[in-house]
Amino acid sequence: MNLDLSDLMRDPRLLPPEKRSLLSGIADRSAALGFPCYLVGGFVRDLLLRRPVNDLDIIVEGDAIQLGRMLLKEFGGTLTPYAPFYTAIWQPPASDETIDLITARSESYSAPGALPTVRPSSIEDDLRRRDFTINALAVRADGEHLGEVLDPLHGRDDLQRGIIRALHPRSFIDDPTRILRAIRYEGRYGFQIESGTLNWIDAESLTVLSTLSGERLRHELDLILAEENAASMLARADEVGVLKAIHPSLPRFDSNRANWLDEIPNPALNISCDRETLGYLLWLLDVPAEDLATLSRRLDFTSELSEALLGASRLNAKLPALANSLPSAWTFALEMFPLLSVYAMCLVAREPALLEYLPTWRHIKPHTNGDTLLALGLPPGPQYKEILTHLRAAWLDGEVSNEDEEKKLLESLLNNTEG
Ligand code: ATP
Repeated sequence: MNLDLSDLMRDPRLLPPEKRSLLSGIADRSAALGFPCYLVGGFVRDLLLRRPVNDLDIIVEGDAIQLGRMLLKEFGGTLTPYAPFYTAIWQPPASDETIDLITARSESYSAPGALPTVRPSSIEDDLRRRDFTINALAVRADGEHLGEVLDPLHGRDDLQRGIIRALHPRSFIDDPTRILRAIRYEGRYGFQIESGTLNWIDAESLTVLSTLSGERLRHELDLILAEENAASMLARADEVGVLKAIHPSLPRFDSNRANWLDEIPNPALNISCDRETLGYLLWLLDVPAEDLATLSRRLDFTSELSEALLGASRLNAKLPALANSLPSAWTFALEMFPLLSVYAMCLVAREPALLEYLPTWRHIKPHTNGDTLLALGLPPGPQYKEILTHLRAAWLDGEVSNEDEEKKLLESLLNNTEG
């Protein structure tokens, strides 16, 4: 008997009711147009693994853009068609979610690593252009066919055995980003890359990988850093030669730092840093400063991330010289570095001074400011900065602890200036 997933699709723990009703709305319209409608890839894979599904990737045998126009007319929202690939993205009204509407298609690659040429085709052909057997499953969503599974490449067997299997020997040459995708699924589900597939990650596919744009590679690395097992995935990427193919100075991710991937800064610290940025900092802050510039260019990092990495690398080198310094010396030195660099070093080095600096020291300022000095009749000049710095250091180092003490110190500084 053919496998039927309709029961799993009705399970609210796997497919939330609002997604289910959205799906049946789409499938009904698709059926009305005479287009068989399927869900593919991660949806079927995760459903079979009894994991909650995320994206609704809809494939129709017909015309996805026409379906999108009908959804727009009946439900509203916004539609972004992309004619060259016969696809459209539909955002239902009052929803943050977007739905990919895809016309079943076949693909061919004009050159290794290039983007594919596509033409509309059958669902079977569409499954054959995919990366791995476990992603080459489809489940029908329309009418009486609801729940019927298409599995021409035996993805379900591989799911049960825990195997990542590419569809043909040139798969990684056509698109070497699939190497990183294989590693991601392997690490996420605790699966194994099948031995034949592992052999296809060879010198030729790694050479093609090394020609990919920084943006494409960084996108795949971002996805890895968003995963719970990012450190072991990057160790695997190193083992199969991917990291060195991207850039010779890309190290493994130090597994001792894996726990800090979730430690995005407390909002009270007012440091904006997402998990991926933190991931790159924890991963790369030991890379010598002289290699960071080429690495940042290779992976097309934002200037904020490359400066934070460079800052972290320099700060790392400077920490021994700062040991046992006064709070004021720490603060004045740390202010020369991006906050992101200090935050990353704070996690890694567990240096108490860094823990004090971020929430407390950096905010300590004297009551006196330039206006106060002007009102006291001090002619503007370099001594302003000297006096204000001296007062701030006194607060930081505990030499003054209230406004009166600050005033007394200021008076003595002014007397010295006059003298
Ligand atoms: P994830 O849970 O990681 O998001 P997913 O299966 O939803 O998994 P997507 O990146 O959203 O992954 O891709 C959707 C589907 O498109 C995949 O399941 C796969 O079938 C196909 N796909 C994505 N990238 C590739 C690729 N580089 N080569 C071939 N097929 C791909």
